[in-house]
Amino acid sequence: MKKRKNVETKEKRPFPKKALLISLFVVLFLGICFCTYFFLLLPQIHLKGGNTITLNYQEKYQEKGYEAHHLQKDLTKKVSVKGKVNSDKLGSYEITYTVKDGSFQRTVTRKVLVKDLKKPKLEIDDSDIYVCPGKEYEPVEVPASDNYDGDLTKKVEVVFGKDKKMVTYQVQDSSHNKKSVSKNIYYEDKEAPVLTLNGNEEMYAFYGETFHDPGATAMDNCDGDITGNIQVSGSVDSSTLGTYTLTYESKDSSGNTASVSRIVTVRERKGIIYLTFDDGPNDGTTNVILDILKEEGVKATFFVTGKGPDELIKREYDEGHTVALHTNTHDYAYLYSSGDAYFEDLYTVFNRVKNITGSESKIIRFPGGSSNTVSRKYCPGIMTYLTQEVLNRGFRYYDWNISSGDAGSTTDPSGVYWNVVNGLRADRANMVLMHDIKSYTRDALRDIIRYGKDNGYIFEKITMDTEMVTQKVAN
Ligand SMILES: [Zn+2]
Repeated sequence: MKKRKNVETKEKRPFPKKALLISLFVVLFLGICFCTYFFLLLPQIHLKGGNTITLNYQEKYQEKGYEAHHLQKDLTKKVSVKGKVNSDKLGSYEITYTVKDGSFQRTVTRKVLVKDLKKPKLEIDDSDIYVCPGKEYEPVEVPASDNYDGDLTKKVEVVFGKDKKMVTYQVQDSSHNKKSVSKNIYYEDKEAPVLTLNGNEEMYAFYGETFHDPGATAMDNCDGDITGNIQVSGSVDSSTLGTYTLTYESKDSSGNTASVSRIVTVRERKGIIYLTFDDGPNDGTTNVILDILKEEGVKATFFVTGKGPDELIKREYDEGHTVALHTNTHDYAYLYSSGDAYFEDLYTVFNRVKNITGSESKIIRFPGGSSNTVSRKYCPGIMTYLTQEVLNRGFRYYDWNISSGDAGSTTDPSGVYWNVVNGLRADRANMVLMHDIKSYTRDALRDIIRYGKDNGYIFEKITMDTEMVTQKVAN
């Protein structure tokens, strides 16, 4: 039996193109998948605030934070951060963030730029400038400073606009930050003259006596002294009691005007007040008394001793008061023990005053007054001798006819005030005894002066021409 060989003949069919294309896609797809998968295998770090940060000079660097994860695992806590930023030094700094997970590691870098971003400062405002007509604007030195460069005053530039109608001050720091301030310039005088009264706003004139108007002064920013152009309106009729207003007006060449007024009251003249202060000078009282006298425009007489600062005696003299003599020690037991003792003591203070003021004073007051009886205890008859002998030696002595009581039982300002004002009489020279070493006298003085002024009294200092006010010698 013949075995039949079974031969199958296979037909070789060509590989279809379509399949090839599909295979390629599959390979490509797998490749992409693999790469993506591999990338995903690496830990991921996300920097909050961005990969580049700009800091201002000296602005403290603060970590803005980050997040790290790997395959859904949070690795934020495992990130190691390296690098430092010195914000005191301009430049570029790097901070690196590294995280590891098994054999996978990732590092990202953050750039930190420290720059000077601040503009310099110019110490000038942008207000308008007014220049007197016909004058040039003179640039001024404008202080400039910078947070990084420090003082830039020397680097300030001045630039004028067209026709000098504008000026710009500008400055630039070493990081090219610019600051400029522009000001308009107007060539016109906008300022009124400054009118100042000579003498007080309120003055007294005396019935039947010519009133001498002390006038006013006018100064203008552009025209200078224009006192001569002051126009006064109003007048004082001293033959009629009453109140008058004087108005002073001043106009500069650009038409700016200013005016001030003074009220003048015409009243009957009353007596004279001589304010006299014994036993000083004394720091803390005499100086304040001098201030008040100056403010009130009143002159007084100071009977000084060997005590107190020289400067105050100098000031009394320089400010136009009379520096008179009271004796050096004011020690009754010594002074009134003999004529020699008295004059030795008197000439000591005489020389003191002469040395300080350069001027000899021959106006005196006896401690305790010429009528004192305390001297009887030390030398009977001494006051009778002294009151004559001082005159022989060219001195003039002044007692008082009003005592403020400030050396006795009166120890408060209102007591001093009433003692003085109640003693005033219009028909005489009122010689007021006070002590410039007393605080309550100091504190009463202004009211006493005001009372005197309001009631028509005038204040004078003692001079060698002043009639002596004397008491009755009793020893
Ligand atoms: Zn005295």
